[in-house]
Amino acid sequence: MNTLRRPFYVIAFHSGLIFALIASMGYGCVKKQPYHTESRLLMGTVVEITCQDKQAIQVAFREMEDVERLLSIFDDNSEISQLNKRRKLNASWKTLQILKKCKSFYETSSGAFDITAGPLVDIWKDAIEEGRAPSERSITRAKKLVDSNNIVIDEVFSTAKLSKRRMKLDLGAVAKGYAVDVAIRKLKEIGITSCLINAGGDIYCLGKKNNRPWQIGIQHPRNDSIVKNFVLTNRAVATSGDYEQFFVLQNKRYSHIINPYTGYPADSGVVSVTVIADDCITADALATSIFVLGKEKGEELARAFANVQTIIFTEDDLDV
Ligand code: AMP
Ligand code: MG
Repeated sequence: MNTLRRPFYVIAFHSGLIFALIASMGYGCVKKQPYHTESRLLMGTVVEITCQDKQAIQVAFREMEDVERLLSIFDDNSEISQLNKRRKLNASWKTLQILKKCKSFYETSSGAFDITAGPLVDIWKDAIEEGRAPSERSITRAKKLVDSNNIVIDEVFSTAKLSKRRMKLDLGAVAKGYAVDVAIRKLKEIGITSCLINAGGDIYCLGKKNNRPWQIGIQHPRNDSIVKNFVLTNRAVATSGDYEQFFVLQNKRYSHIINPYTGYPADSGVVSVTVIADDCITADALATSIFVLGKEKGEELARAFANVQTIIFTEDDLDV
């Protein structure tokens, strides 16, 4: 294995202290077509695409930009923002599909994964800015708006509806994973067989690189050491962690992932969870869910999915 370091093939996960090291493997004597890597700021993170075909890289970025335009809550014109505003929307096929998927993750995770957590996410964000914890009252009020059963999808009329006023969808937990999947699907359609997309730690390894699997390294959540290396072909990886996106209030560290049952930031003892799956949306949704559920219940959830592996760090692992 040949693990190269930043700025070549070290790609930080969105949350900092876990890194994916994309090793360049397969130096042989046969002349190979070179790989190109292009990075862009997209979906609030650095997206990096590595492929031999420069045009294909542009195609993949366009697909991902389209997904961002549909799902971003930071763009008032996105379909999700419009749905949050108007509560009923004629939505595109892609938006309906991701909403359907999210409802199914909500069910399988017994509500740990819930894209209607938007109002809770917002009050905790305000709390960070103001340096105080939200009031119990505001948490109780926001919790009443959190329930993915209140998203009603009608595929015949292509509509999505939010049943309660002031509900707010936030697809931050899966938008990147979904965008990666959409881009990979398009690349396959145009005949690309080897590519790596890394959207801030949401990664898909298409095919092989120079006839050898792509190699990913997982860095320890609290230091620079590599704790696990694995090789991947036609598989996805995603990580949720407590490192970069967290805040400290009265000396306590809070995660950006909310436990919808309590209305408080997730506090399951998990420090980081990396999920390997056949597609990136599954890896992304499961990583967020397991972060809420904790190691034991999280591993149980992962077992409900075919072909899923997890690498979980808990606070106890950090003590040793
Ligand atoms: P990730 O980093 O992929 O785990 O996603 C975290 C983001 O998902 C947060 O920044 C919120 O936007 C959103 N989120 C927070 N808590 C949840 C939850 N329990 N279920 C679904 N999305 C959530
Ligand atoms: Mg996620």
